[in-house]
Amino acid sequence: MCQAPRCLWLRARSDPSAARAVLERRIHRSTRGLSWPAVDPRLAELLDEARASEAPTVFLTGAGISAESGIPTFRGPEGYWQVGSRNYQPEELATHAAFEQIPDEIWSWYLYRRAVCVAAEPNAAHHALVALERAVGDRMLIATQNVDGLHLRAGSSLARTYQIHGNIDFMRCADECGAPIGRVPEALAPWPKERRVGDAERKLLVCERCGGRARPHVLWFDETYDEERYRFESSLEAASRAALLVIVGTSGATNLPNMMARLAARSGAAIVALNADPSPFTALAESLPRGHFARGSATDHLPAIAAHLARGPG
Ligand SMILES: [Zn+2]
Repeated sequence: MCQAPRCLWLRARSDPSAARAVLERRIHRSTRGLSWPAVDPRLAELLDEARASEAPTVFLTGAGISAESGIPTFRGPEGYWQVGSRNYQPEELATHAAFEQIPDEIWSWYLYRRAVCVAAEPNAAHHALVALERAVGDRMLIATQNVDGLHLRAGSSLARTYQIHGNIDFMRCADECGAPIGRVPEALAPWPKERRVGDAERKLLVCERCGGRARPHVLWFDETYDEERYRFESSLEAASRAALLVIVGTSGATNLPNMMARLAARSGAAIVALNADPSPFTALAESLPRGHFARGSATDHLPAIAAHLARGPG
């Protein structure tokens, strides 16, 4: 197998499991002269500054990184859901109000979405962040808007992965009786789009402690962030002390990511936005003296960024 950097790079882009192995080898050999393809000089400067700092690099990840694993956002037509003669929009379904009215339908929609997520595999960008965490530990942190759990399945630690909108693979007591968050039962997979929750499924979707109804462990549009379930304060605190905030594949539609970006900018962090298209976050990055917009996909840029940061301080 050719070990030339260009060949390693091409293989990493086409095969996620090879990417993981290659990146880990790259990190272990980083002092022995193998070089990953160079990043943009301006970006390299910002990464070098972050490497020299004890403060963490925070990765804020969004739908773009999951799209490369084949997971749709479920905010467009792929998220529409037929109930009787009515076609619901995702924004109507992902609410506590809808769960109160049509809980079986909401659970059916989430179990279908969960099945899509479970069938997907983490990609080279997820694996790059795993390798970086193994190399630098507490000097990196992920805050993800994605509920698909792919960062954890790739191998990122729960301690350094803030799932700020929850995780579709988990459920909790709908009455908030204080029972711990649990996994959605495996008996509820696979879940084709036409399948609907009935009596048998309803019996599985209950709180283990109080026996009441369980709900998906996700943040809904008509709910607010909190620390206990969604690491709200921890995410803001991480943004305020970050040396560098890398915003990956997210366009800035939700509240906490916006707060994190503004707080990091105000606190003097460098901001790098990786996105296929311009967005409010790329505009913010470009407006800052220590900011950079890297146009492209997460798998285009994250392996090289992670390898650069993984070399350690200085
Ligand atoms: Zn309960």
